[in-house]
Amino acid sequence: MSETNLSPAGADAASTAAGLMPIPGHVDPMTVPRPTLVEGVTPREDGRTDLVGLPRKRIAELFEAAGLDAKAAKLRAKQVFHWLYHRGVTEFDAMTDIAKTMRPWLAERFVIGRPTIVEAQHSSDGTRKWLLRTADGHDFEMVFIPDADRGTLCVSSQVGCTLNCRFCHTGTMRLVRNLTVGEIVGQVMLARDALGEWPKNAEDIRLATMAGLDDDEDEGSYSADGRLLTNIVMMGMGEPLYNFDNVRDALGIVMDGDGLALSKRRITLSTSGVIPQMERCGQEIGVNLAVSLHAVTKDVRDEIVPINKKYGIEDLLQACADYPGASNARRITFEYVMLKDKNDSDEDARELVRLLRKYKLPAKVNLIPFNPWPGAPYECSTPDRIRAFSNIVFEGISAPVRTPRGRDIDAACGQLKTAAEKKSRAELDRLYAEKDAALAAEAQ
Ligand code: SAH
Ligand code: SF4
Repeated sequence: MSETNLSPAGADAASTAAGLMPIPGHVDPMTVPRPTLVEGVTPREDGRTDLVGLPRKRIAELFEAAGLDAKAAKLRAKQVFHWLYHRGVTEFDAMTDIAKTMRPWLAERFVIGRPTIVEAQHSSDGTRKWLLRTADGHDFEMVFIPDADRGTLCVSSQVGCTLNCRFCHTGTMRLVRNLTVGEIVGQVMLARDALGEWPKNAEDIRLATMAGLDDDEDEGSYSADGRLLTNIVMMGMGEPLYNFDNVRDALGIVMDGDGLALSKRRITLSTSGVIPQMERCGQEIGVNLAVSLHAVTKDVRDEIVPINKKYGIEDLLQACADYPGASNARRITFEYVMLKDKNDSDEDARELVRLLRKYKLPAKVNLIPFNPWPGAPYECSTPDRIRAFSNIVFEGISAPVRTPRGRDIDAACGQLKTAAEKKSRAELDRLYAEKDAALAAEAQ
């Protein structure tokens, strides 16, 4: 195999291909690189391009633009892709099947980025939360929840959220921006770093690939290879279906057998009910779906999940019934946060069962005890109420009550909010009015 096709001739070929005359004589090297603008990649001050988040094809294009011939660019991209996402290396120097002479060439032009860890917290129940920062200085969070038979990473899709579900702490933030593909896939990579879980030798790789690609495996058996991180839920900050393309591309790399190699059956995307993107989600991403239902009447859902004013309950349930890939083996999860005297009556529970039956939904119901945050306008239902509600739902459909995890470090569902300041009621009212108006404008 020829090692590197990089040479001054290669560079000349590139400039000729770009329609430029090769410049005769000595050319001074450019000392201050200009930031390279690559679509979807946050530009860096030093002009290098972060490869994390890019698919093989994009990497090959960049290598070709930097001077490799097409065949070499394709081969190098395949190797680099494997090292980045399957082996988790953070230095080009560790890419042992790439010629030593080529590695500095890569390092001059590209970087292997990860979001920066600002703070790592460990809960008494084993839950871990990381406060992360993007290259341009925005903070967001990810959470790891270990269990007996699985370990779930809760991944963020946006910094903030455009929606304003009244029980959710993230809803009290404005949307700062969508996370890039690299920042989404980078969370999973950081978790593997922190848990020390990159495959190191051929046997590790064989096991990891088998575990990731065997779609018929039993739930729970994945950890047979000793992995801690077995599942991913897109349930961190933000509405993933409002950042569809980046979430799709990031999960594509996570599911790629030569990438992070996690099975689509081990990935769940949670949406507040962005109906127009749900079918695409099934078709183009193909992961499990979770829907934040939380209420069974228009009045209550309009209040606590305001996107309901745009996409109502019945249309949402129809979209769930049409979700590509849903079956009894791959049921849709309906999340239902238990709010005292708001949505937790026996009548609500019976209506929930009726609705799920009406649409013949292959459903699981997740009853989530409300996780409080400073200034939240609701309280959690009492344990007795949750039990009574659960019994009714359980008679109709399976309804486990999720034990809240990581509450002591504000890592539980809906407690994620990076800027920890508390807003006054008046500020919140203004913010919510703004978000409601944006939603209404979008509906027209
Ligand atoms: N935006 C997406 C995914 C992120 S929220 C969505 O809304 O589905 C992940 C889950 O946590 C959702 O079901 C959400 O409704 C729930 N959640 C938000 N705040 C919560 C809180 N304070 N207590 C319990 N669950 C909450
Ligand atoms: Fe956004 Fe989900 Fe929170 Fe609603 S529950 S505000 S959609 S993050």
